[in-house]
Amino acid sequence: MKIAVVGAGISGITCAYLLCGKYKDVHIFEKEVRPGGGIYSIKFSESGKEHFIDLGFTLYNRKHYPNLVRLLDRLDIHSQETFKEICINYQSGRMGWSLGDNSIFFPKISSYFKPFNYKVLAGWLKIKRHADEFLEKRDMDKPLREHLDEIGVQKDIVKFFVKPLVEGLWTSIEKSEFEYYPAYYFYGLLRHLGLFEKSEQSKWRIVRGGSFRIISQMVSALINPIKYQTEVVNVVRNPNYVEVYTNKGEKEVFDAVVIAIPGIDALKILEKPSPSEELILGSFTYGECYVILHTDERFAVSKLFNERAWIIQVSEDDKSSPIVTWNLNRVQQLSLNTRLFLTFTTNPHLIPSDKVIHIIKRRFIKPTWKMLITQRRFGEINGVNRTYFCGDYWGWGTLEDSLSSALKVAQYFFKEQINF
Ligand SMILES: Cc1cc2nc3c(=O)[nH]c(=O)nc-3n(C[C@H](O)[C@H](O)[C@H](O)COP(=O)(O)OP(=O)(O)OC[C@H]3O[C@@H](n4cnc5c(N)ncnc54)[C@H](O)[C@@H]3O)c2cc1C
Repeated sequence: MKIAVVGAGISGITCAYLLCGKYKDVHIFEKEVRPGGGIYSIKFSESGKEHFIDLGFTLYNRKHYPNLVRLLDRLDIHSQETFKEICINYQSGRMGWSLGDNSIFFPKISSYFKPFNYKVLAGWLKIKRHADEFLEKRDMDKPLREHLDEIGVQKDIVKFFVKPLVEGLWTSIEKSEFEYYPAYYFYGLLRHLGLFEKSEQSKWRIVRGGSFRIISQMVSALINPIKYQTEVVNVVRNPNYVEVYTNKGEKEVFDAVVIAIPGIDALKILEKPSPSEELILGSFTYGECYVILHTDERFAVSKLFNERAWIIQVSEDDKSSPIVTWNLNRVQQLSLNTRLFLTFTTNPHLIPSDKVIHIIKRRFIKPTWKMLITQRRFGEINGVNRTYFCGDYWGWGTLEDSLSSALKVAQYFFKEQINF
């Protein structure tokens, strides 16, 4: 069997890695010059020593990333623990809270005398208490704001604490979209991040030596070289074969195609998509933001807290979105004198150019109730018309979702449950 895989992100590479054990004719097409997609590490040199900096996938925990844990074991890649902390910081120094293992932390002794902080704590405890029950109910279309109102989280807590948290966890959210943000996604993502628990298994971890090691090891195990700078522009399905057309004007014939690119793009390259494909793939929407590696400390400092790993800087005016920054020296445990930060923003000019080291534009899925409902219809379009779809959009938009969807696709070929 000859199989085409479109996209050399972790989901495409995982499919090819698993399938090439059974079929020798597996070929990956990648439009960029490198593999990895959302896994991207660059070299940073200081005092003659090289360090690998992750500008994409970085954090995971053992509890909610079981496939990744098994994959790292299989590839013999080591990981290490890092700080689990998300800090909501009001730039004025008026207020701020830090989330980590299971609870909220106040910044200073004086914070314990501020009644508003106790209201925030009470709101957080309510959210935690309702998480399991809500996720169990699988109520996909209930907006978060409505749900919080129902469980008695006060409006000012939603405004000053929950909203910045949502915007800081998922940068593609625009201000107005908070109104429709699904409660199910909110709870699911917080649980995925291990923020409702304090256990060894829920501690945050990073890949030692950079996440790109996952990609390079899997790529080196592939039989056929990846076709870089080769964008698939059209996929034509016939009863007995599939034709794949590229931007180079080439056509190749396969027995099956695995499409491992964002849902919205998958739909665009399908010639004559079925009504189910149109409906399902068309229900995933995306937002874009810039990911900037830089040395500008402004967005990582807090008048209230000492260093934190993940900082959500909230401005006093309600008009601009919070700015999200990862303090990389802390997140990635880098022993560098240079302080490096990764800021997620829709404004490419936010950081002065003399402080910018690297800038990339990235797409993130927008959580909507439509997406949550259609995700359940994976089986309706997979394995039909010689076509298979995988990628992080089949879940919460995390690396674990890419892996589990790739494993599900591989299962269609192996006709049995498989694991790493
Ligand atoms: C800055 C950043 C930080 C992140 N941090 C975390 C984190 O800490 N923890 C976590 O769990 N997740 C994180 N993620 C998410 C995680 O990286 C992604 O979920 C995962 O990498 C997605 O992999 P994928 O294979 O599904 O898709 P992608 O990585 O998007 O791969 C798709 C590939 O297909 C290629 N392609 C697209 N169209 C075509 C075409 N027509 N023809 C050929 N090739 C094509 C693309 O170039 C790309 O290489 C982060 C993502 C980003 C961007």
